[in-house]
Amino acid sequence: MRKLFIAGNWKMNLTLAKSVDLATGLKQNFPAATSAQVALIPAFVHLAAVRQIIQDTPMALGAQDVYFEKPGAFTGEVSTEMLKELGVKYVLVGHSERRHILGETDPLLNKKLRAAINAGLTAILCVGETIEQRKANRTEVVVGEQLTRDLAQVPNEALDAGHLVIAYEPVWAIGTGLTATPAQAQEVHAFIRGELRRLFGSDRADRIQIQYGGSAKKANAAELLAQPDIDGLLVGGASLIVEEFIAMVRAAKEVKK
Ligand code: PEP
Repeated sequence: MRKLFIAGNWKMNLTLAKSVDLATGLKQNFPAATSAQVALIPAFVHLAAVRQIIQDTPMALGAQDVYFEKPGAFTGEVSTEMLKELGVKYVLVGHSERRHILGETDPLLNKKLRAAINAGLTAILCVGETIEQRKANRTEVVVGEQLTRDLAQVPNEALDAGHLVIAYEPVWAIGTGLTATPAQAQEVHAFIRGELRRLFGSDRADRIQIQYGGSAKKANAAELLAQPDIDGLLVGGASLIVEEFIAMVRAAKEVKK
């Protein structure tokens, strides 16, 4: 049985004071005895402050990106060592904003993903199709290629140690208010599960959590989480609101599969 995993991607939002307020609000309202796995993913510059607040809670810390090289002359980049020193456990790789706005390619994402998991971090690999690709019936081709390319040469030991999570995030649903229906999301999640089986075998594939992301909010969380292959949510906008994010954590606690 896979644990449900709710992660909040704060993106390039919030001042330091507002990040502290949000983390504090989440801590104060965090439901007791939740079985869900939860992570907060603030901007790099707010990681240390958020860590201070959540270190004695069940919430873990994530980063929005990482560079694949060892420490050295890479101005502006952040290494796996730096993240680990700050208590970071998860790192997003291939968020659609990094693919489509910042031009990150599959070969680069593969290097980042392998560097993260080889360093003992857990990579959350984001995959998903644009609206044009969906309309052209290319969703499975696009997502299949992203998985095959981004997951090349991932060692089995890293999978056995639970260092890989996949997030299916249809680009057309991110930040748009449009959500994939539970059936649409489940269809792609089942496809992703099949691809993971092809790449890593059934036992390993069946242990990998696949989150859904794309305008997830408290109003649709329970229905999405009830789908057999949806193992959590990667939440953008709604993760900035205490009541919304906590409601999603509660939904994960209550959902029956
Ligand atoms: C995201 O950024 O990963 C995301 C899913 O954003 P939103 O929930 O705002 O669509």
